[in-house]
Amino acid sequence: MSEHSTAPPADSSDSAAPLQLSSDLQYLPGVGRDRARLLARLGLRAAGDALFFFPRDYEFPSALTPLNQLREGVPAAIVGTIAEMEMRTAAGGRTTLGILIENELGAVRVMYFNQPYRRENLQRGMRVLVSGTPKLSGLRMQFTHPQLTPLALDEPPPAGQILPLYPLTEGIKQPQLRRVIAAVAGELAGQVPEVLPEELRRDAGERLGTPLPEIGEALRQIHVPDNRERLTAARMRLVFQELFVLQLALALRRRRLTTDLAAPPLSPSPAIDTRIRKRFPFALTGDQQRTIDEVGRDMARQFPMNRLVQGDVGSGKTVIAQYAMLLAVAHGHQAVMMAPTEILARQHFATLQRAMAGSRVRLGLLTGTLRSAERQQVLDAIAAGDVDVVVGTQALLYGDLQAAKLGLVVIDEQHKFGVGQRAALRSGGLDPHYLVLSATPIPRTMAMTLFGDLDVSTLREKPPGRKAVNTYLARDGWRDRWWQFVRQRLDEGRQVYVVTPRVRDGGDEQTSDEETLGADDFAGDNGAADNVSAAEVVYDQLREGPLADYRVGLLHGRMSAAEKEAAMQRFAEGRTQVLVSTTVIEVGIDIANATVMTILGAEHFGLAQLHQLRGRVSRGPVAGHVCVFTDAEGSPEENERLQVFADTSDGFDLAEADFRLRGPGDLLGTRQSGMPPMRIADLQRDQAILQVARQLAQEIIDADGDLSDPAYAALKKQVLRRYGKVLELGDVA
Ligand code: ADP
Ligand code: MG
Repeated sequence: MSEHSTAPPADSSDSAAPLQLSSDLQYLPGVGRDRARLLARLGLRAAGDALFFFPRDYEFPSALTPLNQLREGVPAAIVGTIAEMEMRTAAGGRTTLGILIENELGAVRVMYFNQPYRRENLQRGMRVLVSGTPKLSGLRMQFTHPQLTPLALDEPPPAGQILPLYPLTEGIKQPQLRRVIAAVAGELAGQVPEVLPEELRRDAGERLGTPLPEIGEALRQIHVPDNRERLTAARMRLVFQELFVLQLALALRRRRLTTDLAAPPLSPSPAIDTRIRKRFPFALTGDQQRTIDEVGRDMARQFPMNRLVQGDVGSGKTVIAQYAMLLAVAHGHQAVMMAPTEILARQHFATLQRAMAGSRVRLGLLTGTLRSAERQQVLDAIAAGDVDVVVGTQALLYGDLQAAKLGLVVIDEQHKFGVGQRAALRSGGLDPHYLVLSATPIPRTMAMTLFGDLDVSTLREKPPGRKAVNTYLARDGWRDRWWQFVRQRLDEGRQVYVVTPRVRDGGDEQTSDEETLGADDFAGDNGAADNVSAAEVVYDQLREGPLADYRVGLLHGRMSAAEKEAAMQRFAEGRTQVLVSTTVIEVGIDIANATVMTILGAEHFGLAQLHQLRGRVSRGPVAGHVCVFTDAEGSPEENERLQVFADTSDGFDLAEADFRLRGPGDLLGTRQSGMPPMRIADLQRDQAILQVARQLAQEIIDADGDLSDPAYAALKKQVLRRYGKVLELGDVA
């Protein structure tokens, strides 16, 4: 788990051997074989692992017990004011000093026997700290012979020891883990090598407004904090380091992509530019114009474009792709466009056919359902240069695609892949330009990490005339009313989607070609699948019940590609009026006449996914209507996430809200991206540190492109160890 765990465990059977970073935790006092096995489940094997196993939170106990919560026999400390003081001397000279101490919660009595000198420093009205073990005496708690410390009036009461809270595993309790890690931190934190050069650490501290402690101090304070200030500084240092190492890796990769790779320069000359733009049947939005300019500039260069265009559903991303593809074709190069599903690939193909009608551009379609002879024919045409633009599913990626003169790869609706996952399609010794389209708005900080090696263009502006979607959360007893509304819309000639989270009863899982964006919410529910709305069941119910008079179709990922295609086609042509579907329809499908959507089992969908679904009915000039039902107890109104969904129509705002509600999680498929998870940084909370880390990393790489300054040697090693493989930084080493 840590950077140190790769070293072989020292032979620590000799208990006198000094603890080392590589020592097996088993030999630590109080650990032993059994507990070591439990620790290993947390990834803790070597002592060094424990140093980098960070608390998930802290407890900040006050040292003080509220006066009204004192319990007999339980040690406690309180702060109060001396209200009364009385000293009695008995006949034999024995003294009894009684003091009444009050605060806003009540009063306690303090007694000293035969300690007359105690009286000397005390007086009424004085603020004091009392610590000891109280006993009940009459109706009042009494401390006998406690420690009693006068406090200045404005002196804050002492704080208790800050306690780290670690992620646990069954069989290990918090105090046990604390003891082990505190012991390791105390002994070994000082042995961890510093990777941040002094000057850099100072510079970062200045930009962050807090001096950053060196690594040993930071590791000690993160596990055994002296106080809040030191803990904050320690955390900042460790978060900075984690983000900085990542940003250095990303900056190295960006630089590598611009210096080491060559792509054909495909510049948009005024003649070409005008010719392409003439093909668009509408005026471009400002954001589309700007993005096309950016794409044109990128493609004119001699190294590959790596641009992400993110824009809400319906923001008009396809136009950008078309521009880029036609630019490639204008220069005699080929363009490939990849879609995540067969349905979407076919739709893009059809759109392009319309857009290119009457031009000399030769189109090809390459999908998984082609018979192998057909497939071979298309592949041959691509290899021979007889096709200019190829549209296909991501199966293209893994196939044996050999293009004669590939200039551009467009990846549509990419959100499952992060950095380092883009295809390596080359031809003629050159790399193509890459254009990635995503309808999943990514919070800025996520974009800066997950897609940190891409340039980003954002389409926020919607094409004119687009109506907002009305989103309703179904209240109890709404089903009848809603289906009545649906029937009215159908009678007006509109079409309707009904989306369910599941294909059929009995807990089947989504099949692989269904969109899995946000599917982790969904996957987590597999166990409790019994009452989840299933497409096949809903299909039957609707045909026998509320929609008996209408033509209802069914679409789900368990159907063959041909069946899906046929179902989609029937709906697109209006032969079916209602489409009951799983999330296969989520991505990119564009049927303007479909304006109403019912989402069942909405609690099984992620926010981004719900928004994608909603996008299906916000494409035409007619206002869309979405109604959201849940399978769970209680109405959707009681679900905070769904409330946010209903209240937020902008995808970017929704993404930020989602991020706030549940953190980055696996929202964007970080797991699939192959990037190691963050150990301490929290992209939500640590945005300011991320900015500084990114800025500094870029400055350093601008000045020293492959981090060759010996001062950076240790840092570079860490960058390569952590990200070298996933970011393909091999040749930097
Ligand atoms: P998405 O960003 O979701 O992929 P599309 O590219 O499919 O969006 O565009 C959605 C719809 O908006 C399409 O029917 C497209 O023709 C239309 N469209 C795109 N740009 C404009 C524009 N500038 N003016 C009018 N309609 C546009
Ligand atoms: Mg699209």
